[in-house]
Amino acid sequence: MKLVPQVNRKRLQYLALLLFLGPLLRLVYLDTETVELVLFGARIPREHIYVPVLGGCVLLGLIVYLTIRFGRFFCAFLCPVHLYLEHRHRQKGHWWRKILPWVAPVLAAESVISFVLSYRQQWGMYTEHAFPQPILIAHVITLGVMIGVFLVYEERFCQSACPYAVLQNVCRSEDTVVTVFDRGAARCVDCSACDRVCPMKLDVREQSTEFSCTNCTLCIEACSVILGEGREVMTQVREHELPEEPPGLESNQR
Ligand code: SF4
Ligand code: SF4
Repeated sequence: MKLVPQVNRKRLQYLALLLFLGPLLRLVYLDTETVELVLFGARIPREHIYVPVLGGCVLLGLIVYLTIRFGRFFCAFLCPVHLYLEHRHRQKGHWWRKILPWVAPVLAAESVISFVLSYRQQWGMYTEHAFPQPILIAHVITLGVMIGVFLVYEERFCQSACPYAVLQNVCRSEDTVVTVFDRGAARCVDCSACDRVCPMKLDVREQSTEFSCTNCTLCIEACSVILGEGREVMTQVREHELPEEPPGLESNQR
């Protein structure tokens, strides 16, 4: 049973990806010549910058509230890195999943740089061999960080270095939703389908209640495919409903 609402999870993820790549697609960027923030064609002058700042604060408050209610909400619904990890861990042999780790850091770094530097400006600097040193250094650092996130550390970045992980730890309450293996159901066939889909590379049945779990519910879906709809042994409960000392797995279950 899923307690985190799954409606439109995919749509929200792709919308967030669109926003993340917004500078690259020239949807969201800072026009440094006129000092205006451009949001989907609307130009916000410097004196009205408080409007997007207030909007950002409201969004942050909403994310904190949803994190208290649903656990690591932001990751599975809005984070492009999580979306990337979901795709990386599925059908590993597929050709485009092999090139994804090389393409993703370049796209992400270029999107960050494009927020303040248009293609025209960048192209001009390339063709004139006149890259100012600070901009060159910013390029190299941004690309290095993205290579670290997407290619080197992957889910270890989400678990240990992401600031949202810290926020989630602080926000966890008695009411927070937790994904858990229902040990009492005794239907597990030890197929490891749940482990294979987990973007955080967890030993799902043992570690899903830990802070690293993002409540994406992919393990519940995988279990549902194996055992049948409504018979899955991966489920969700509220923190206060977790058994205090879960009994060990029976030998015929693993
Ligand atoms: S344990 Fe399940 S819900 Fe948690 S991150 Fe892994 S697949 Fe997602
Ligand atoms: S919990 Fe479900 S998906 Fe995971 S090993 Fe058991 S039967 Fe398979």
